[in-house]
Amino acid sequence: MVKTKLLFDKCCKTFNLRSVSRSTALITSVIVLVICSVTRLGKLEFLELALFDLMMRSRGETELDSRITVVGITESDLQTWQQSTFSDLLLAQLLARLQQYRPAVIGLDIYRDIPQPPGTTKLLQQLEADNVIAIYNIDSDSSADPALKVPLERRGFRNFLLDPDGKIRRSLMAFGQGERPMYSLALQVSAVYLNALDRIKIEPGYLKLGSTIFPRLQPDSGGYQRSPSDSGVQTILNYRSPERAARQLSFTRVLDGDFPLDWIKGKVILIGYSAPSKKDIFSTPFNVEEMPGVMIQAQMVSQILSTVLDRRPLFKSLPQWSEDLWVLLWSATGAILVWRIKHPLTLGFSLLATLGTVFGASFLSFLGAIWLPAIPAIASLIVTAGVISAYKTFYNSRIDELTGLGNRQQAIELLEQAIGKAKIPAIAVLSLDIARFKTIEDSMGRSMSDKLLILVSKRLQNCIRSQDKLARTGVAEFSLALFSLKDRADASQIASRIQQELAQVFNLKGQEIAISTSVGIAFYRLGQNITAEELLRNSHIARQRARILGKDRYAVFSTAMYSETLAQWQLENDLLQAIDHQEFQLYYQPIIDLRNDRLVGFEALVRWISPTRGLVTPGEFISLAESTGAIVPLGNWILDEACRQMKQWHQQFDLQRELTISINLSSHQLDPDLVERVALILAENQLIAPCLKLEITESATLENVEEAIALLQQLKALGVKLSIDDFGTGYSSLSYLQQFCADTIKIDRSFICEIESNKNRAIVDIIITLAHKLDMDVIAEGIETESDRAILQSLNCEYGQGYLFAKPLQSENATQLLAQQFTTNKLSSSSSH
Ligand code: C2E
Ligand code: CA
Ligand code: CA
Repeated sequence: MVKTKLLFDKCCKTFNLRSVSRSTALITSVIVLVICSVTRLGKLEFLELALFDLMMRSRGETELDSRITVVGITESDLQTWQQSTFSDLLLAQLLARLQQYRPAVIGLDIYRDIPQPPGTTKLLQQLEADNVIAIYNIDSDSSADPALKVPLERRGFRNFLLDPDGKIRRSLMAFGQGERPMYSLALQVSAVYLNALDRIKIEPGYLKLGSTIFPRLQPDSGGYQRSPSDSGVQTILNYRSPERAARQLSFTRVLDGDFPLDWIKGKVILIGYSAPSKKDIFSTPFNVEEMPGVMIQAQMVSQILSTVLDRRPLFKSLPQWSEDLWVLLWSATGAILVWRIKHPLTLGFSLLATLGTVFGASFLSFLGAIWLPAIPAIASLIVTAGVISAYKTFYNSRIDELTGLGNRQQAIELLEQAIGKAKIPAIAVLSLDIARFKTIEDSMGRSMSDKLLILVSKRLQNCIRSQDKLARTGVAEFSLALFSLKDRADASQIASRIQQELAQVFNLKGQEIAISTSVGIAFYRLGQNITAEELLRNSHIARQRARILGKDRYAVFSTAMYSETLAQWQLENDLLQAIDHQEFQLYYQPIIDLRNDRLVGFEALVRWISPTRGLVTPGEFISLAESTGAIVPLGNWILDEACRQMKQWHQQFDLQRELTISINLSSHQLDPDLVERVALILAENQLIAPCLKLEITESATLENVEEAIALLQQLKALGVKLSIDDFGTGYSSLSYLQQFCADTIKIDRSFICEIESNKNRAIVDIIITLAHKLDMDVIAEGIETESDRAILQSLNCEYGQGYLFAKPLQSENATQLLAQQFTTNKLSSSSSH
């Protein structure tokens, strides 16, 4: 058994079979083995014989063998002569009559073990003729059998071989060997006809008649599975259609001389009962009507004569090994069809066509007198197709079709098994994903990105040892289980090897593609109480951490990571609810004209007043809101709320365009609906467009520059003002600066807080000059000290914002500030009139 398995594995290696092909080959071989064994046990014999009969009937051999004439004693003969068993006298008369016409040979297929007087002596006289062959029963030892008075060379046995279903399909030609072989009536009669009575030879493997060889039928020939003790020289009876083996005459017609003379002269004459009441009838493949024994004798004689004289082939069968190969062929065909054909209907038709082919091939070979068993072939085709279909379904539920790797389901199962085996030193699970795969897919198209995934999976496979298991657990996510890990450091080594390997450029149809990956590693310790799902999840958590660390990094899972992730998840959850629960509030930070210290506007800054967390600053939740998509409803609310507040201030202090409101826009809000929404809000609040300033972070627009620019231009067309926020921190090229069509540059706080250093001062100077050259004004953010203000004033910076003037204020405080400036203003302007 072990040897067979080794041999099988070796074969698979030689033919370079993938594991699925190996399993398919194994399943197929087992099925063939089982079917062949079942066949050998004879369990399929009855089906094979039924098919044999069908083919025999369909063949319809219609040519009449005119060398043979059967003289049948019919029902009406019995009535005419008023005898239920013909007397010896009548038989003697019949023989005498026939002899007048010089037949070549007469076979008397009627037992005479008990004399039927009158006329016994006359019959014995007739039996002395050289050309008369009598029958005897091998099993009977009756000394009264007159046939025994006939010399041995002119006696033939009349024993038929019945198959288990009672049908006659074989002809027993001879029995015994050496000194005293026994021949059948058919063989004897044929030998006399052929003048070859002394030229019959029985050898172990065959019988020779003259120079013609009749091979012995083997116990397992064709569809037969008989016991080897079933001896004698047998052949498969190559029937002609019923009635076509001989001409037929009735006893009365012979006595009346009512027949053409050449029906007898020089012919083989067989005499027997054809009356059904004599019960000398047998089942044959032509089961419509049962055949009288004498007609079966005629079939047998006809077969022998045709073989010798017409060279009509005898039924042969192929050697057992080639029958087994034939079964294997169809089994393999079934397996291949099931794997290759995806559409169930097409598969069904193909299998039917294949079944037809097996039948067709068997029938063709049958016509060529080769009995090729179709049943085992069909059985193995059907069983293989069924089992392989089931296997395919099972396989596909655990295998990723694109890469041929296991899927998540399989990864979990394997991990579960590995965890279950207590003795494993340590297991590491590596989770890997391709950064920004969605963008790659969008730009290259599905089929190319699929090819990329295949290449990635191949490179991964080259990085792992044979005992490790790789699976595709997500669209662009792979998981690797390292079993029997000796040292934890090995896992990190493999992770960096994988990353190095994948960092090399991929070449896809001449297009070079670079990818970056993050890898998370989670370990299983012996005895640790953890499920496979949890282990996989831990590796995901570590991977997310690795992604935050940067490109092509890996991280090892820790419990702290898990609690952080849990906290993050909690935050995400709370944030989503916060919008519904209206837990947000806008703060307003004043923007000051540095030339005259006047308040010219506010920047709206959002705060989350959480019932459980207290005041949460935007730094803690904006990026989370962006990644979860919550930023869109939140951003809409901010726009609404800030404009509503603005309208209130405008009305309260009777302002027109003196006060602007700056609102931060996230890149995720930059969608085509935005323009319409802004226009609507302005109209609803009766605000003129230039009062609204939208702040866009320099890097925010970069993801899809063309689209962003088009959108910004539409906003601009409404009359709204635009600012570039955090200027100097992103990596936008100067060429975009013009296209962004911004009105204002906001210099990032990081330059202002250290503006006293020469370097920062120079940078700020340049930014301001640049902005002025491009017709933009400048707001300096984060002014905290008087000296900051003084420097900025000296550099001609128009506006400023920072703690020096005010922190972001709640709306009431902002209103107070407005009241201070605008009521005193209005008062002073009215008093001056
Ligand atoms: P930002 O747009 O650059 O906003 C300016 C930030 O600088 C605000 O922080 C403000 O409180 C802070 N700041 C102003 N002056 C000073 C100063 O003199 N010293 C110091 N140390 N800080 C000063 P905040 O409110 O925490 O907001 C942080 C960031 O969150 C904002 O940076 C903005 O990118 C984002 N953000 C805030 N509100 C919104 C919003 O409503 N929508 C969107 N999309 N993003 C927002
Ligand atoms: Ca801002
Ligand atoms: Ca800023």
